[in-house]
Amino acid sequence: MKAIRFERPGQVSLAELPDPQPPAGWARIRIKAAAICMTDLELLRGTHEVEYPVTPGHEYCGTVDRVGSTSDEAWLGRRVVADNEITCLKCSFCRRGEWRCCPEYKQIGFGAPGGYSEYVVAPVHNLHPLADSTSFEQGAILEPLGVGLAIVTIAKARLGSTAIILGVGPIGLNCLAALKASGARRILCLDKRAKRLALAKSWGALETTDDPARLKELSKRLHPEGTDVVIDATGNLEMIPLGISVTRFGGTFVLAAFYKNAAFPFKPDSMQGSNIIMSGAGNNAGFIEPAALAVGDGVISTEGMITHRFRLEDFARAFSDEQADAPDYIKGMFVF
Ligand SMILES: [Zn+2]
Ligand SMILES: [Zn+2]
Repeated sequence: MKAIRFERPGQVSLAELPDPQPPAGWARIRIKAAAICMTDLELLRGTHEVEYPVTPGHEYCGTVDRVGSTSDEAWLGRRVVADNEITCLKCSFCRRGEWRCCPEYKQIGFGAPGGYSEYVVAPVHNLHPLADSTSFEQGAILEPLGVGLAIVTIAKARLGSTAIILGVGPIGLNCLAALKASGARRILCLDKRAKRLALAKSWGALETTDDPARLKELSKRLHPEGTDVVIDATGNLEMIPLGISVTRFGGTFVLAAFYKNAAFPFKPDSMQGSNIIMSGAGNNAGFIEPAALAVGDGVISTEGMITHRFRLEDFARAFSDEQADAPDYIKGMFVF
């Protein structure tokens, strides 16, 4: 099969690898679409920890074409998306649902081969069927939508919550979709790129701006008690004091991006006095299924998220900084 490989930081190729065979209890997925995540650009730059060589791609979907056990044959031919967590299911952490603590924890697209390839193998219990109304293109972005659902759950957003999203790239936009579905209101968005702000507006943001000072003004006027839920999806350290400053007394500020191992001086009093809860949100285990159900039933729309489409052969362009920095780029996808 053809598969994109990151041999080491900075070196990428389209390799010819043996077709993977699913062991007992696993299924093989013929990939139909695989979305490009900024995390994978970090893997290519060497700024995100992983063992090389790696076939990345953790946002994918396709059709089951082979299973490892006859008892799983009902999955053959089904259109599916898969959870990426591979765990032992036996240790005390697994039995508590704390998958990331499992000593055998691996993620498809990082420690295990991912979806920038013609096939992926995954445990059958990781599979979720796609609704007939869900396209493969939508199926491939259920994983990042699951990230948005997880972030909004960690942020304790609920009916009536006010919210601010700093950065409406793919993750910020998925947070917006999840916030809208949760009944949050008066959602304000900040981003530098006009195209992203326009999409946020069409997805139901009340106000959008590219100016942090204007955002502060808007939050003062529209969230006079402070903002219930503030999400940083920029990965820009300067956004942290801004985020804390607009969070209400007892509200939640969630870090939903990578900060490239950077550190910065931080005033604990800005949170301590106002009982602000700051939380990381780097895991979507268990949220791909609700994402699939919500998109399948039309509760959440993904319209406008995918702006660029590539073949696997176009990998150099797909992973270039020029592409990622293009003003009209939101999210790219490999189509097969
Ligand atoms: Zn991702
Ligand atoms: Zn385990």
